[in-house]
Amino acid sequence: MHLALIALGLGTGDEVLVPSFSFAATANVVRLVGAVPVFVDIEASSFCMDPDAAEAAVSRRTRAMMPVHLYGHPAPMEALTAVAARHDLLVLEDAAQAHGAALGDTPVGAFGSAAAFSFYPTKNMTSVEGGMVSTESDRVARAVRLLRNQGMERRYENEVIGFNMRMTDVHAAIGRVQLRKLETWTKQRQDNARFFDEHLRGVSTPSVAVAATHVYHQYTIRVPEDRDGFAAALEARGVGSGVYYPTPIHRLPSFDVHLDLPETERATREVLSLPVHPALDQGDLERIVAAVNAVAEAGA
Ligand SMILES: *Cc1c(COP(=O)(O)O)cnc(C)c1O
Repeated sequence: MHLALIALGLGTGDEVLVPSFSFAATANVVRLVGAVPVFVDIEASSFCMDPDAAEAAVSRRTRAMMPVHLYGHPAPMEALTAVAARHDLLVLEDAAQAHGAALGDTPVGAFGSAAAFSFYPTKNMTSVEGGMVSTESDRVARAVRLLRNQGMERRYENEVIGFNMRMTDVHAAIGRVQLRKLETWTKQRQDNARFFDEHLRGVSTPSVAVAATHVYHQYTIRVPEDRDGFAAALEARGVGSGVYYPTPIHRLPSFDVHLDLPETERATREVLSLPVHPALDQGDLERIVAAVNAVAEAGA
């Protein structure tokens, strides 16, 4: 994402629209190129950047938007790219959590000028560390290739100032094997999610937009009252869960911006992600459902 932003020509003084309900990396890279992250609220339904809020946040300095396909659900790209077109903004997709997600026939990573995928171990596929930029532009692709390798394509013919952000062959080898398994794992995640959708009672299950393919990096429910108590009660029944993310980026000490983003704040209070990974077996799924339903019923 860092290299893609440089390749797209973003820098000092430029404003980039980002959701605050994401991992800090989304906004970090904007700061790292000297640009200003402008935090935008999310849609309640998808947890992704709200197109109306994005439009309202556009200023004369806005040059780009960076929607995040959070939890593996595609951001509302039709409306977001329409906002971008109206205001002549570049679109960079944060697809770190969304390998294989799609809207209609279009996979995430194909909507923007560029997109970035993460291969960190917790993601739907991994190369242990590393990531990938996708783009249709030969110019952007070449710029990223140069930037990751100290500015050179041919040895000792350095053309621009660059970084050492190469993926090692060893990591790439792991990633290539993982890539072959991605489709099967994704289907397993989707099957697990369907089982939860059909069997969970008394909690609000994740919604999927029309024509969206959700790849369930996370299966995230909302618990409007005492989410942390709910998580502790699940833990007591042997079911782990996670909160992604407990603090919106704009309120982290590293940013500390004062803003009112009501849906973002509500999400940080309510979200709870259940295990949905492909290694769960039928017994695990039934145990998770029984625990969630029991805790929901006890709280109701
Ligand atoms: C994991 C993640 C990143 C960062 O990816 P790395 O490969 O760890 O650098 C960025 N954005 C989101 C939304 C993520 O989940």
